[in-house]
Amino acid sequence: MREVEVLIVGGGPVGLAASILLSRFGVSSLLVERHPGTSIHPKARGINARTMEILRQCGVEDSVRAAGLPPERAKFIVWARSLAGEELERRIPGRAREDAIQISPVRNCLCAQDDLEPVLRRHAESLAPDGVRFDTELTSFEQDATGVTATLRERAGERVRARYAIAADGARSRVREALGIALHGTPALYRSINILLNADLTPWVAHRPAALYFIEQPGLKATFLTINGVNRWGFLINNLPPDGDGDEYTRARCAAAVRQAAGVPGLDVEILGAVPWVAAAQVAERYRRGRVFLAGDAAHHMPPTGGFGLNTGVQDVHNLAWKLAAVLHARAGPALLDSYEDERLPCGRAITEQSLMNARSLGRGAPGEVPALALGRPEFLNELGMIFGATYESSAVVPDGTPPPKVDNPITEYRPSGRPGSRAAHAWLERAGTRCSTLDLFGRGFVLLAGARGAAWCEAAGASDISLEALRIGPGGDLGDPQGRWLEAWEIEAEGAVLVRPDGQVAWRSRGAVPDHEAELRRVLRRVLSLS
Ligand SMILES: Cc1cc2nc3c(=O)[nH]c(=O)nc-3n(C[C@H](O)[C@H](O)[C@H](O)COP(=O)(O)OP(=O)(O)OC[C@H]3O[C@@H](n4cnc5c(N)ncnc54)[C@H](O)[C@@H]3O)c2cc1C
Repeated sequence: MREVEVLIVGGGPVGLAASILLSRFGVSSLLVERHPGTSIHPKARGINARTMEILRQCGVEDSVRAAGLPPERAKFIVWARSLAGEELERRIPGRAREDAIQISPVRNCLCAQDDLEPVLRRHAESLAPDGVRFDTELTSFEQDATGVTATLRERAGERVRARYAIAADGARSRVREALGIALHGTPALYRSINILLNADLTPWVAHRPAALYFIEQPGLKATFLTINGVNRWGFLINNLPPDGDGDEYTRARCAAAVRQAAGVPGLDVEILGAVPWVAAAQVAERYRRGRVFLAGDAAHHMPPTGGFGLNTGVQDVHNLAWKLAAVLHARAGPALLDSYEDERLPCGRAITEQSLMNARSLGRGAPGEVPALALGRPEFLNELGMIFGATYESSAVVPDGTPPPKVDNPITEYRPSGRPGSRAAHAWLERAGTRCSTLDLFGRGFVLLAGARGAAWCEAAGASDISLEALRIGPGGDLGDPQGRWLEAWEIEAEGAVLVRPDGQVAWRSRGAVPDHEAELRRVLRRVLSLS
């Protein structure tokens, strides 16, 4: 029987990201995916900036950008009666605003899921040549006090033993079902069909390159989803009657709907595929049972309005991977793993709820229940607070008693901060004459960042029996702060320090010096790693 540390069920974007992250942390894993290849449908396309930060950490940012479109090729969101007809509204999403771009060293990227997954697969395979198996289905599993034993279909009766498992097996997760974990929320919001097509739409789109073209006609609510912005498109017909099964959508009927939405009767259209699906807004009541963790759509199934499903899933496994590594390598107590659900379940609920509000404001629902024209609420595609603002409260964070940064609208606004539980803020620094972001310092282990007069913190880190990197920032330190903004962004003094987790979230902060730096750091690390 093959033995690995972690079994990953599902080779969608979330399973593949889990494989990459675990390999980076030195954890052996086996990913099993029942299909022979990656997704042939361009479902998700909007990879938000927080996910791009994670992909940068994983070393695939450039490859993902090369597979996608640059931001200027998907600048707008357009509402129209048809592509050739009256334009109703054109917006630049708030995510592309100049102040939004300052938040991160990276920008969001439009990369269709069927282009993204091969990039992730290649990278996962290069890091774990024997750890990614397509055409292999998990058929059953059981768990006991020390691990999970799974049966796979590729070779009859083959069994695998793992210390832990991640269920990244999608919205209809059989693993979740077998664990008896219920879903809460709305199972069927509206029916839609996702069509992949070839048609040269250049004459109607080239002057207004957009990520989405919403078509609003009395009998047809549809969306053109930009893939290459020229002749390859996704196309959604929304609000189909609730009782159909999608079979009624023959290729000819799909092509007719595309022509109607384009407003071009003779348009040359080649339909490559059509997949009916039902939008839901449901979140699992738990993210963990025993040694099995839910991640991605298996944990939360949200409407695609806002583009959060894939992003939230990748961020789930980014949160989980370092914790599994720390526990498996005996650097943390098993209770650290409880913090995964404590941190990610509230995020999954909040994001699903906001995606649902987006859906309603865009008039998604059963036909007859929705307004004739719905142009979306102001928050739609302006969710900076949701993209960067995940703030955790759990055993893996030591609060410092400060309140969260004040914002008028936590969905649209994000205030960078060094407050424990929040994403460690980005600031440009200088190392050996080269510009780097604070975010480039994270991703392998714990990092202690101290102010220019915080040498005592670095000495305490050196004396710690728990390995961590310590860096002093500012004049005379390991890194320069050319813009002089680091202390302000992280809200500490030159004698202070911040401890950042491998996932780039702040674990603890001391605004200034303390009487015994070594004792304080030992206390904090033991608490964050559940070692007491
Ligand atoms: C039209 C549309 C547009 C979207 N747009 C966006 C967007 O812009 N941004 C965004 O973030 N999200 C978007 N999404 C959502 C996104 O597609 C999903 O959230 C994402 O695919 C979830 O990834 P996952 O890996 O969790 O699950 P999946 O992609 O569903 O992958 C699960 C995998 O598990 C495999 N599997 C299942 N059972 C087993 C088993 N027993 N053994 C082995 N393998 C198994 C399946 O074959 C599948 O490949 C969109 C979705 C749709 C439908």
